[in-house]
Amino acid sequence: MTSRKHVCQIVPPYLMQRLNAGRLDQDNAFRVARAEHLTRVLAQIPAPEAGEATAEAGDWTVYTANNGTDLPGEKIRAAGDPESGDESVDEAATGITGSLALFEEVYGRDSYDGQGIEVVMTVHYDRDYANAFWDGTQLVFGDGDGEIFQRFTKAVDVIGHELSHAVTEHTAGLVYQGQPGALNESMSDVFGSCLKQRLLGQSADDADWIIGEGLFTETVHGVGLRHMLEPGTAYDDPTLGKDPQPAHMDDIYDGTDDNGGVHINSGIPNRAFALAAKAIGGNSWDGAGKIWYAALTNGAVTTDTDFAGFAAATIAEAGDQAEAVTTAWSEVGVTPASGTPAPDGEAPTVVKVRRSGGFLGRTKEGVAELAPSAAHVTALRNLVAGGAAPSKPKGADRYIYEFEVDGRTVVVHEGDMSPELRAVANELLES
Ligand SMILES: [Zn+2]
Ligand SMILES: [Zn+2]
Repeated sequence: MTSRKHVCQIVPPYLMQRLNAGRLDQDNAFRVARAEHLTRVLAQIPAPEAGEATAEAGDWTVYTANNGTDLPGEKIRAAGDPESGDESVDEAATGITGSLALFEEVYGRDSYDGQGIEVVMTVHYDRDYANAFWDGTQLVFGDGDGEIFQRFTKAVDVIGHELSHAVTEHTAGLVYQGQPGALNESMSDVFGSCLKQRLLGQSADDADWIIGEGLFTETVHGVGLRHMLEPGTAYDDPTLGKDPQPAHMDDIYDGTDDNGGVHINSGIPNRAFALAAKAIGGNSWDGAGKIWYAALTNGAVTTDTDFAGFAAATIAEAGDQAEAVTTAWSEVGVTPASGTPAPDGEAPTVVKVRRSGGFLGRTKEGVAELAPSAAHVTALRNLVAGGAAPSKPKGADRYIYEFEVDGRTVVVHEGDMSPELRAVANELLES
């Protein structure tokens, strides 16, 4: 895969190009400079279990760049401070408070690193700056150019989107390229939209599923930057062109622009999430949101997971809703990976499962050679690493599973099987 250096930004390069070609070069130079010290923290930091959340308010500070480019700039407002009277500062404060509350209260995650790190935000960045981004250390918001875009703090989901990039970077670490990059973008739209829906008290059925609604000035023919439920319909404008997002794998973009279409192909997993959320019903952040968050953070999704691998990870986490989630992925043309085959030149990992017991007392075995980075391998490694917690039989006539990876085995009684292990076992036994 290509360079891991990236700056996540809400407005994709193909739109920036349309706005101002000269400005793009300047931004690129800046991004490269900032990205030099961007250190990627991979999945070593375990997220706290949901329910362990502490009650204290999230820690954040909003600065202003005073329309310059020095970061973070002048400190204006921190958690606990009253409103500043600066519209952008106060919108950033509302957005980050809601974002931190979503991750803490719903997913049990304390800030983006899982350890309560302070969130630094800067508003009034540069002049006429029509973008928002996460630079690896902080969130940055421009005032917009006033012609196409208004200020970027105006849409609360944009704030949630940018913070979610920091969460992804500290968990699965999806590279910002190709399908993993489109998943990275999609995670940010998913949790940005969950944030907006939660603040507005909207169910999955009430939600408009628009990302960046209200960011455009009145002159633009469009409702927002992206449409999660109906990708490709967010705008159609003489200056901006037409929303290029595909809604199905049949129309996936396979060119090299936009890091291989990270802001384009995110339409496909975005629609899968919106469909799953509506099928599950109730609130997106509770239903589909918890499944997606678990998939992103449980170790099954790694830096180079593709749509098929991510689909499998969400289905494995879906429990009773596995059918709804499977159907949602199927509607966008994604077939869940049943253990990703090892790419050429990579030694496969052999995983085995043996099922015994059951009413008939019949033994069944399954073996597969998978990529070392496959979701199922990670799940089984986590299981054997978890080690000695002995699994005891519950009930009668139930199955006993013996999993093997890296030459180590663990016995799990049926009553102790997680939905994920169940999915792994079923696939291996069918193979
Ligand atoms: Zn983004
Ligand atoms: Zn990032």
